[in-house]
Amino acid sequence: MKKIVVLSGAGISAESGLATFRDSGGLWEGHDVMEVASIEGWRRNPSVVLDFYNKRRKQAAQAQPNEAHLAVARLEKKFDVVVITQNVDNLHEKAGSTKVIHLHGELNKARSSIDESLIYDIKDREIHIGDKCGKGSQLRPHIVWFGEMVPMMEIAAAESAEADIYLVIGTSLVVYPAAGLLDYVPVDSPIYVINPERTQVPARRDVRYITEKAAKGTSELVEQMLN
Ligand code: NAD
Repeated sequence: MKKIVVLSGAGISAESGLATFRDSGGLWEGHDVMEVASIEGWRRNPSVVLDFYNKRRKQAAQAQPNEAHLAVARLEKKFDVVVITQNVDNLHEKAGSTKVIHLHGELNKARSSIDESLIYDIKDREIHIGDKCGKGSQLRPHIVWFGEMVPMMEIAAAESAEADIYLVIGTSLVVYPAAGLLDYVPVDSPIYVINPERTQVPARRDVRYITEKAAKGTSELVEQMLN
């Protein structure tokens, strides 16, 4: 069975009503990214950060997968599929994808601020100042912020190195180390890039650009692949 690896970014969830921040003047739902998505921002003002992610969690819980997430899930009928997502929503899982690696964490989980292996499933519940982990420290969102290590990178790189076909959907490829995953894709495996804007893919032998929004571009490509 051929292996397809999908690398998705915020653009795949845009048509489900979840805004990307690169398309909103560098603001994520009206907030400076460094205020709400960096370790310094958390240290400076944890209550602003908790409130921000409480809102994002509620919004994501109400969102539904769009045609792009559903098409990616359909690929499992014929291929071994691994989804590597930079998104913190769970729309790939809601669409039915069974192997999803979250590079930047997940909104519906909380974790200890002193022990990153202490992770709790909180579904759509809020986190507040004073909510503690089992070791007595403040709970924080299970999100990888700017300035932090990306623990899932090694696994994601190993999966990328086994891809027969690589799909890049709705990502600007400017956030590292995620963008560096393309370097692991075998040179003779085609890379399809689905994005309405032209993105910067390092020079390769076989990159195929589909300049469409995720829902249309992905469902058309998946249709071809399944037939
Ligand atoms: P990003 O750097 O991946 O950029 C978004 C990309 O999506 C852009 O290249 C844009 O051209 C493309 N795009 C916009 N609409 C699209 C559509 N309909 N179809 C296909 N592509 C489309 O992502 P970002 O917004 O800069 O966010 C960076 C990080 O912030 C993410 O990696 C994530 O950790 C977090 N974030 C997550 C979510 C989410 O979970 N839904 C939303 C916003 C931000």
